[in-house]
Amino acid sequence: MKLQQVSDNCFAVLNEKNRMCDANSGLINLGGGVVIDTQADLAHARRMIELFGKVWPGMPQRVVNTHEDGDHVWGNQLFEGAEIIAHRTVPDRMRHVADPRAAQKMIKGADHFLSRLLLKAVHPGALAVARQLQQDYSFDGIEPAYPTTLFDERQVLNLDGTEVHLIYVGPCHQVGDTIVHLPKERVVFAGDVIFRQCAPAGWTGTYQKWLEALDLIIWLDPDVIVPGHGPVCGIEGAMEMKAYLDYVREESKRYFDRGLPSLEASKRIDLGPYGSWRCTDRLYMNVERAYREFRNEPVDAPWDTAKTFDAVYRVAKAKGIEIEF
Ligand SMILES: [Zn+2]
Repeated sequence: MKLQQVSDNCFAVLNEKNRMCDANSGLINLGGGVVIDTQADLAHARRMIELFGKVWPGMPQRVVNTHEDGDHVWGNQLFEGAEIIAHRTVPDRMRHVADPRAAQKMIKGADHFLSRLLLKAVHPGALAVARQLQQDYSFDGIEPAYPTTLFDERQVLNLDGTEVHLIYVGPCHQVGDTIVHLPKERVVFAGDVIFRQCAPAGWTGTYQKWLEALDLIIWLDPDVIVPGHGPVCGIEGAMEMKAYLDYVREESKRYFDRGLPSLEASKRIDLGPYGSWRCTDRLYMNVERAYREFRNEPVDAPWDTAKTFDAVYRVAKAKGIEIEF
């Protein structure tokens, strides 16, 4: 993890491995301090607090969660007494998609000989995810701390005269997607609307909404964007994400029209200019999302995560690329 200053009063803590759970956090060093997203486990959250401590002497008084995924909310409990702000949907969604006990059980399954054998036979992708996460994460001890201040479309914070705009843009990658814009600092904290130099992993939402959210970020014209995952960038990060989504949706349509299942399509779709990214095998998730839209399925149609990870694993195998989640 590293600390990076991105404007006069804004900082980022970046997880450089850029795989599943390696989310970024932000700090606005004004008005009592605001932390944006709190990491995927307590060890990472403590390290983030320590790094921010180099520029901020006390504990921040506010936390913003950009959405409900565990890798953005599982350090919340360490900010005792802080106001936790998120979109109105987030607390309920956290109960459905961010259960730390289920996550811990999943990665512990890889430790037991019998469950490992079973997993390998039935769900090789789920076993591979568990092994990868075990390298860096433990979800022990996490007690979900739910947002205390909820908003609908927009919330404005005034920090010593500097406005912070929380803008709801979901559901694009998840239901609660929110971006944080500081016009005066010319900074956007994009949450998982932007994955940088790694394939996105979106769960609930539409391509249309996602592209609109990216257009909004481009229109806001920030000098600096802190993505949810990957290195800090400028406007080009939003444009590249748009290009990726457009490319995958178009390629998916060609195979969908020919009647190929999404897994087969993912094996065949060329990685194009994105082959040098991390976790390119997550292409499957984006193809599957496109297919769900072509079939007019509801945006919140549930995912079978074990099957999804298996499909990602099979795409990596078929393409001869590294298996990364
Ligand atoms: Zn994330």
